[in-house]
Amino acid sequence: MGLDPLLESRMSLVSMSEMLIPARSGGYAVGAFEVWNLESVQAVVAAAEGLSQPVILQIGPYEADHAGLDDISNIAIFHARRAKIPVAIHLDHGDTFERVMQCISHGFTSVMLDVSHLPYAENVAATKEVVRAAHACGISVEGELGRIGGEEVGIDVTNDDAYLSNPDQTPEFVKETKIDALAVAIGTVHGFYKSEPNIRLDLLEAIAERVPIPLVMHGGSGTPDTYVSRAISTGIAKVNVCTELVAAFADTFANEQKEQNFRYNVPGVFTRPRVAAKKLVEEKIRLFARL
Ligand SMILES: [Zn+2]
Repeated sequence: MGLDPLLESRMSLVSMSEMLIPARSGGYAVGAFEVWNLESVQAVVAAAEGLSQPVILQIGPYEADHAGLDDISNIAIFHARRAKIPVAIHLDHGDTFERVMQCISHGFTSVMLDVSHLPYAENVAATKEVVRAAHACGISVEGELGRIGGEEVGIDVTNDDAYLSNPDQTPEFVKETKIDALAVAIGTVHGFYKSEPNIRLDLLEAIAERVPIPLVMHGGSGTPDTYVSRAISTGIAKVNVCTELVAAFADTFANEQKEQNFRYNVPGVFTRPRVAAKKLVEEKIRLFARL
């Protein structure tokens, strides 16, 4: 006899650790894609299903504020439960304990607390508090040490050595906070690069030697594929994609609108951006999963 359909459908909504631990030991990475509306969720889930790969749907404060947390979490959970592949729903760059709790109560299976702008001891204390609450609910937690370049939730971070993760600090940070995944600042930037990227694989190697937990690459958009592949071999188990996905969607939307001469045309204006987004997600998953 088969499983209860409801139970079976819930199996697809999983915590992030279930995907990332095997990814780190297997030398591949899981894609984490920012979603902000129905079409973006459909594009990401369809791409992952087509390739039979697990996937992470990420929602950050901007996306939650844009769509409304009720709306976007319901859309994401509906599609995650219906998916034939494991899906995690993750809060990207959670800024406060309250935001983390709201997302957990809305059904997220994973959260990030990013208070890396605070002094080290305060980052440890705040992250620890979130981990304790989240782990009690079976939710995995991503923390961040160092500042990732580009624009980080309203704060501009220059890509300066002083902001990069300090490998010697990482074992203590992981041990103290008990986080499940660590976002590392190794020279990638949020948004597209404004100058030649300087990805510090040497730093990543030093971090990976010191901590066994899955490592996370933020600012994946526009990072050359060769660097991404090498970073994955060195311990990156989750790669975030936001800007490139939004651009694939928005550029197609703008072009279609122009081509249709701003006439009423839902399939043209809304379906094609979803197709473009799905294609981008497929390319990224193939790269991350080494397909
Ligand atoms: Zn990020």
